[in-house]
Formats: sequence, structure tokens, C-alpha cells
Amino acid sequence: MDDCIFCKIAAGQIPSRKVVETEDVLVFWDIRPTTPVHCLAIPKKHIASLDKAGPEDARILGSVALAAAEAARQLGVADSGYRLVANTNRDGGQEVFHVHFHLLGGRRFGWPPG
Ligand code: AMP
Ligand code: ZN
Repeated sequence: MDDCIFCKIAAGQIPSRKVVETEDVLVFWDIRPTTPVHCLAIPKKHIASLDKAGPEDARILGSVALAAAEAARQLGVADSGYRLVANTNRDGGQEVFHVHFHLLGGRRFGWPPG
């Protein structure tokens, strides 16, 4: 998609700090980290949000989750633990409409979220 920032990152047109990359998926550092580990796991294919994903996207979304788990291992937070978060639509706080999972780690989180 032409004016999507994450499509441009996936295509290498905007630089990013990559952690894991496969043919279909990219995990890279968030530009404004909110936790000691804060990465974003995205499919290279443009899907606007989890709300817009369909059954045809099941495999790629599984690959995104697995790539996030691999990134967590590489960044040393798998054993201590981490969170994967997909902010979705307005109440979810979604700002970039290319589906992504925040990989958050390096500190302990409370539950439920505020
Ligand atoms: P969300 O509110 O879930 O849509 O979050 C979008 C995230 O994308 C925010 O945490 C931003 O800091 C992050 N972000 C925006 N632009 C970039 C960029 N060029 N590189 C890395 N992360 C970005
Ligand atoms: Zn996109």
C-alpha cells in the first residue's frame, strides 16, 4: 500500500532496526520504545488491522506470532516473559493501520491493563 509506513519499512524504503526477518514477516524495534524491549512484529503483506484480517491470513498471522517469539528469545526476554499486544481500532489505541503486534518485555507488567 503506497502511503503505509509499515509497508515502506517492510520494503526497505524506510530504515528500521531489524531483529527477525523472513520472506513474509519482519520484527523491528519500535522508534519510541516504551519498555526496555519494544519491537513490532508485522506481516510484509498489508493488512489494515486484526479486524480486517480474514481466514486467508491465518498462516501469515501465525508466522508473525512465531517471529515475535523468536525475537523475544534473541533479545533475552523469553524466559523472564513478555507481552504481545495488537492495538486494534479506536478504543484499542491503534495509530498505524498495518496490522502489528507490540513485543513488550524487560520489565514486569500488571494485569489487568489500566
Ligand atoms: P499503534 O498505536 O499500535 O498503532 O502503534 C504504532 C507504533 O508504531 C508506535 O509505538 C510507534 O512508536 C511505532 N512507529 C511509528 N513509526 C515508526 C517507525 N518509522 N519505525 C518504528 N516504529 C514506528
Ligand atoms: Zn501497510
